Amino acid sequence: MTDPRRALPSVNALLSADVAQPFLARAPRALVADAVRDAIAGARRDPAHAPRDDREWEAAIATALAARERRSLRPVLNATGVVLHTNLGRAPLPQAALDAIAEAAAGYANLEYDLDAGTRGSRYGHCVSLLRELTGAEDALVVNNGAAALVLALDTLAAGRDAIVSRGELVEIGGSFRIPDIMAKSGARLVEVGTTNRTHADDYRRALGPTTGAVVKVHRSNFALAGFVADVPVRELVAICAEHGVPVVHDLGSGLFLSLAAFSLRGEPVAAEAVREGATVVTMSGDKLLGGPQAGIALGRADAIARMRRNPLTRALRVDKLTLAALEATLALYRDPPRALREIPALALLTTPVESLRARAEAIAAALVEAGHAATAVPSEGSVGGGAFPTAVLPSAAVALGGAADAEALDARLRHASVPVVGRIADGRLLLDLRSVPARDDPALTAAVLAALA
Ligand SMILES: *Cc1c(COP(=O)(O)O)cnc(C)c1O
Repeated sequence: MTDPRRALPSVNALLSADVAQPFLARAPRALVADAVRDAIAGARRDPAHAPRDDREWEAAIATALAARERRSLRPVLNATGVVLHTNLGRAPLPQAALDAIAEAAAGYANLEYDLDAGTRGSRYGHCVSLLRELTGAEDALVVNNGAAALVLALDTLAAGRDAIVSRGELVEIGGSFRIPDIMAKSGARLVEVGTTNRTHADDYRRALGPTTGAVVKVHRSNFALAGFVADVPVRELVAICAEHGVPVVHDLGSGLFLSLAAFSLRGEPVAAEAVREGATVVTMSGDKLLGGPQAGIALGRADAIARMRRNPLTRALRVDKLTLAALEATLALYRDPPRALREIPALALLTTPVESLRARAEAIAAALVEAGHAATAVPSEGSVGGGAFPTAVLPSAAVALGGAADAEALDARLRHASVPVVGRIADGRLLLDLRSVPARDDPALTAAVLAALA
């Protein structure tokens, strides 16, 4: 028998054949040539399925070209039930923020220009008055992300000196980002006090001395300690540190700007509360519970924030105009809390009543059944994600697809849909959890599932 691979056409032969001409008419030659090369390589790898005629070569080239033309960063439907999913880009932005981004991006902006004086201004002036108004902080600084805000605070207040932190707060945030590593990068020397489960005021008092640069309080954002535990509240820490003239840096993690206690989400401090507790600097993310763009926000004492603003490191962590535009528009929504709950998608998703999720799951399941697929609406449990309310379980509803045998295969097919759908496998079934799906995406979700199952 002859080796079928010998029958494969050359790149040049395919490029000059009729099959390639429609592609060459609409895409650059080099790109089509790469796609042709991909198609031939695919045929060589899998001779049993190698194209046998012009029609099949055309299809193979079309697939290869589409793969090369597909954007790397694409929208996906988050049906994991995790609302602030870091791997899926955390908070979806409110419409007001999208509008602000489009305006700022399309043209010029007064990013670093003082329109009153007609002279150079500061990009760090934007969002400050809103942040002061909403949190009561003396001053505020916006940088690239939460980790950057923490590094900058430590580098400014404690470089070359000791940064004291409880062993119960040396947390890993995820994606191998660990607080002790971040602190080390700031140039501060990490001094650990207390034990994993208990840290007392005296532990801090014993460590405080002439080489102390700052005491750091890290909010346990993504796990809970229970049982025989003790730690020192920020207020008490602030009082102890005041005796030594030492600043307190409070890494709040998630920037909750509105209490969600009415929705049974308790235990996560609101930013304004954290500011009132008196830490010198409070740091947080913009794209967790705040529901805005990726950003790091430092709130605190005017002198400390001014020093951070002057730190040359700020230049390396600086925030861009699109982020500032989106953050300002998101923050402005908080002036009207009911509006914030409605219009900030992260908050709207977290506070949607489970009855409405159930009704939507039943409607989607019914549409799938009508199309001849096995689907049922089932109760589910979502979560907040993004390192916030770590133990909170959000009652939810999901569409369960298929049976145990094919959950993994279904999951893979949905991830490869033209609008990828990311669900979660539980008890051998693929669940599409609606806690993290905005209602207006239901038709898109249904269509993507139907296309993937077809
Ligand atoms: C999320 C988090 C960070 C990091 O914030 P990013 O915006 O992801 O850089 C730091 N500290 C805590 C406690 C967090 O929860």
